[in-house]
Amino acid sequence: MDQDHPFRPESLMMSYGYKPSLSEGAIKSPIFLTSTFVFKSAEEGKAFFEVAYGLRERGQQEELGLIYSRINNPDLEILENRLTLWDKAEDCAVFESGMSAITTVLLEFLAPGDLLVHSTPVYGGTDHFIQHFLNKIGVHTMGFTAGEERDALMERIKASGLGHKLRMIYVETPANPTNALIDIAACRTVADAFATADQPVHVAVDNTYLGPLWQHPLDHGADFSLYSATKYIGGHSDLIAAAVCGSKAVIGRVKALRTFLGNMASPHTGWMLMRSLETLKVRMEKQAANAAHVVAFLADHPKVEKVYHLSRIPEGTAEHETFRRQCASPGAMVSFDVKGGEPAAFRFMNALKLVKLAVSLGGTESLAEHPATMTHAGVDPQHREAMSITGKMVRLSVGVEHHEDIIWDLRQALERV
Ligand SMILES: *Cc1c(COP(=O)(O)O)cnc(C)c1O
Repeated sequence: MDQDHPFRPESLMMSYGYKPSLSEGAIKSPIFLTSTFVFKSAEEGKAFFEVAYGLRERGQQEELGLIYSRINNPDLEILENRLTLWDKAEDCAVFESGMSAITTVLLEFLAPGDLLVHSTPVYGGTDHFIQHFLNKIGVHTMGFTAGEERDALMERIKASGLGHKLRMIYVETPANPTNALIDIAACRTVADAFATADQPVHVAVDNTYLGPLWQHPLDHGADFSLYSATKYIGGHSDLIAAAVCGSKAVIGRVKALRTFLGNMASPHTGWMLMRSLETLKVRMEKQAANAAHVVAFLADHPKVEKVYHLSRIPEGTAEHETFRRQCASPGAMVSFDVKGGEPAAFRFMNALKLVKLAVSLGGTESLAEHPATMTHAGVDPQHREAMSITGKMVRLSVGVEHHEDIIWDLRQALERV
């Protein structure tokens, strides 16, 4: 980065962290399809391993030398450096899937007997890992919902008798698919209330829904900003990957466990993500602009009962205050209730022509899905109802098509309801 002028992240996505002179002058980083790297000397190999395995502190100017592609690879290192820019993070680690990033963070910072407090609903895969795997290995877990007051949550943690074992607060905000918001700074204060000098309580945020453009959890006191890079960062529905951003200290631990679980992204995926990052901002801005048109159309439609989008949070509420402080845009994820319940929602989805019927989100093409029977089918029905995830709800991920074409499609499909 230039000393005199701090370039913005979108201006650096084409070049940051890559030295053409190391690759025959190629303007783009090659895909380093190699499992291992040749050391210049035995002494160099020894020095690289000492740093990689933490046998000694890294010198001031010393970089971690390239050793073996499970430990590091140029495509992943350049990608990680670029990803740190959006969250102004010290470090980043990329993974082969969102789930591998989430599970690696949970496994590294939790041990049997510890307490994990987490928001609900969380992504189905995350929910399954918490309820089935973490509980099986003796990690205590406690869920809370968006809107639960900070003091009430503190009281519940104290009443559980496990406050001294609290090690992490894990949140997903905005919640999928309802867009309910959780105040990250408030979670930080809860974590700090239970932390001691030698036992920190970490705050982790799954930032897939709004990041990395529109929400920066580290600015609000979180220790981790986690992404399924399958979504906006990849953005073309053609890969599965993830990223975790945070301080050097915590990401160092995450990378160490990643080395031993072996769930790093491949060089090919790393290269694809670098290509995607070049257009991240233009894609996301277009998607948010399209979503604003879609919301305006749906809000006025006689067959639509309710629209769930961050632009719809009533002013003057605590949630609106959180939105104002925490989010830079209402984003491009829109849910809505169709009058007539599940049969009406299904008729609508089956009639779509341009918008594709598929789960996932954040890609260039608009997608529709039915949370109650698809992404959230595994959630306990009572809990699902309480969160307004019912048969009449449809979730849209708005893409980069012409907004009038998207709306034409939604209109003709609603006419079939
Ligand atoms: C998709 C998603 C995940 C899981 O990511 P994968 O890349 O599919 O493993 C986690 N959290 C959220 C919010 C997601 O949307």
